[in-house]
Amino acid sequence: MAHSISSDICEGIADCVSACPVSCIKQADGKNSKGTDYYWIDFNTCIDCGICLQVCPVEGAVLAEERPDLQKTGQ
Ligand code: SF4
Ligand code: SF4
Repeated sequence: MAHSISSDICEGIADCVSACPVSCIKQADGKNSKGTDYYWIDFNTCIDCGICLQVCPVEGAVLAEERPDLQKTGQ
C-alpha cells in the first residue's frame, strides 16, 4: 500500500519531493482544479515511510493510503 496525493488539495509547494527517500513524487503536467501545480506519487516505488505526510504543510493533501480515485497523474 502506497501513500497518495489528493490532486485537487495539493498546492504544489513541493516540500515532499526532496524529502522522499526514494524520489517517487513527480510533478504533474497540468494544473489542478485550484489552478496550481500538483504532484503525484508513483505507487509502485513508494515505500510507505510517511515522510511526505509529515512535511506537507497542506492539511489533507497527502493521504496514508493508496487512492487512485483522488490522485491524478496529469499524464
Ligand atoms: S503534497 Fe504537500 S508538500 Fe507535496 S507538493 Fe502537494 S502541497 Fe506540497
Ligand atoms: S510515503 Fe515515503 S516513499 Fe512514499 S511518497 Fe511519501 S516520502 Fe516517498
